[in-house]
Amino acid sequence: MSDTALSAVTLEARFANQLEELAVPWRAEDVPGPELLALNEPLAADLGLDPAFLRSPEGIRLLTGNALPPGATPVAQAYAGHQFGWYSPRLGDGRALLLGEIRHADGGLRDIHLKGSGRTPFARGGDGFAVVGPMLREYLVSEAMHALGIPTTRSLAVVGTGRPVQRESVLPGALLTRIATSHVRVGTFQYTRAGDDLELLRRLADYAIERHYPAAASAGNPYLALFQEVVSAQAALVAQWMLVGFVHGVMNTDNMAISGETIDYGPCAFLDAFNPAAVFSSIDEAGRYAYRNQPVVAEWNLARLAESLLPLLHDEEQKAVDLAVEALGAFRGQYSAAWTAGMLAKLGLPENIDDADASPLIDSLTALLQESPVDYTSFFRNLAGAARGQTEPSRRMVLDLAAFDAWVVRWRALGPDADLMDRTNPVYIPRNHLVEEALTAATEGDLDPFNRLLDVLADPFTERPGLERYTEGAPGDFGPYRTFCGT
Ligand code: AMP
Ligand code: MG
Repeated sequence: MSDTALSAVTLEARFANQLEELAVPWRAEDVPGPELLALNEPLAADLGLDPAFLRSPEGIRLLTGNALPPGATPVAQAYAGHQFGWYSPRLGDGRALLLGEIRHADGGLRDIHLKGSGRTPFARGGDGFAVVGPMLREYLVSEAMHALGIPTTRSLAVVGTGRPVQRESVLPGALLTRIATSHVRVGTFQYTRAGDDLELLRRLADYAIERHYPAAASAGNPYLALFQEVVSAQAALVAQWMLVGFVHGVMNTDNMAISGETIDYGPCAFLDAFNPAAVFSSIDEAGRYAYRNQPVVAEWNLARLAESLLPLLHDEEQKAVDLAVEALGAFRGQYSAAWTAGMLAKLGLPENIDDADASPLIDSLTALLQESPVDYTSFFRNLAGAARGQTEPSRRMVLDLAAFDAWVVRWRALGPDADLMDRTNPVYIPRNHLVEEALTAATEGDLDPFNRLLDVLADPFTERPGLERYTEGAPGDFGPYRTFCGT
């Protein structure tokens, strides 16, 4: 029965076959003591995978790459990347594999990808493994982002491997089964461009167009259209991060997907106190990837993509550069427009409001929030109350009451829509202290806090009784919050 189910799974090998220069066929290491820690049943169903099968021993072997459907060709993908601004010509999947592509109910293809499946030829000094805490962290935060309506890779499962893994201490090993519209990254283009094989670069760009931006194929200059689409997708994505208070933490070019999905949840965190300079990652000493820097870093990464695409944009180098510069120039305007529209929705105001009203209102509010400082998520949620005439919950969060009162008068004169605010401002986000609490318990074998938090975060906009502790800020003895790269 379970054998039938495995042979009924259809995985394509498009990346492996169409871009074999970028794909090293490889096998996942045997998992000695598999234990299913998390399974995303709705996502499994969307992928045509029977959750009951995935819970069976054979299904778990599929989720870990230890059993393959007929014809599957798992590969480690090659890519390069700028890490904290420094170029590494050869990164690649050091501990990950692309199992293949599978059809989603929406008609599109999805990558099934393993993280923590053992050393590959790209492993360099790494052991190829991953541990329970960081893999459940990616599962939790990516699913929370999805529920918040933010483009992201998804998490299908986390399987404990039964293998002890040496980190600062010995930790339980685990493997994440990740789903993405693709794993083509800015770094994939950098790697290909560095190889100086124009035909391969064209094939990679064609692959990205077919997977993500099929309309670009019929544009006058399809590769320019591809770049323009990526610029737009990233402008929209980073605006959403900023509006929700998400700090990715490691925006290296190998961690920026061409699809416009958030990818690689290593040292990410959410703002608690509104502080534009917030940086959580322990290795980001210079604050390169601080909250407020994210739009500028995205633009910088896109410039690296443009450099990689130049030979496809025009035969004459100067013309190619001019096209790239012009296309990249659209980023700032698109980002600002997306951010402003999102901020207006957070304030319950219509998008077509006069900019002469909107800009000063937004600017004075952000100044007020910063100087207080307020808990970013709670403030906006409470502000919907102020739109309904209950000003106190948001008012008591700020320091300068006179400035706040004056601001509320101006804002309410514009007729804010409290219901729009409730649909826009989440009650529940993966607060750093809640995530840590859940992962600490899970690492010790207790999955209850993880499952409860996952459940709360699946519906972030509907306030439910009994969940007050999930809306509160971190306790006084928590912090300053430091995150570590998800190894
Ligand atoms: P990340 O910071 O997770 O995006 O990973 C950056 C690079 O390091 C990628 O090439 C990963 O495959 C590689 N890497 C991270 N952790 C490990 C590990 N434990 N073993 C092998 N390679 C790793
Ligand atoms: Mg990465």
